[in-house]
Amino acid sequence: MSIVALRCRTHNRGERRRPFHLLQISLDRDGKRVRRDLTEANDEVVKGAWEYTSRPFDAGLYCHHCLNEGQRSPLPIDEVDIRDLGLADPPLVFQSPRSFDSTTLIASLREKFGDRVRDVRELSAQPAVYADGAVLDRLHPGLRRAMVERLLPKDGNL
Ligand SMILES: [Zn+2]
Repeated sequence: MSIVALRCRTHNRGERRRPFHLLQISLDRDGKRVRRDLTEANDEVVKGAWEYTSRPFDAGLYCHHCLNEGQRSPLPIDEVDIRDLGLADPPLVFQSPRSFDSTTLIASLREKFGDRVRDVRELSAQPAVYADGAVLDRLHPGLRRAMVERLLPKDGNL
């Protein structure tokens, strides 16, 4: 995926060139606002992990440096181009085990599936179990980097 079409005219060209860093805002299928960082490696866009955000921006792509300077309008990139650049994937937000709340999950299942819930059993609480951090170190460096940057929650636990 080429990043040429995504470059900010103010910050990614000319003498004031700064590192390519965009913020992508989208809505998940429940209408919750999500964001992810878009950076660059070897002239390709690197998509960060989606996460929920309360920043009141419209869906679109924003230059990180413009935001820091108070410019809050999205880059003028057509929605078709966003799709063609592979950035229209549906947001998938991973949740850390620590923030998981079974009560909220059950309430949402009851809301979505209502009378189709036939059996509910309550099990005693179990502490979260994480893999040994050395497991990641045994992976191929590229796979490890993708896991850390794109899949795992911010605490990095596997
Ligand atoms: Zn900019």
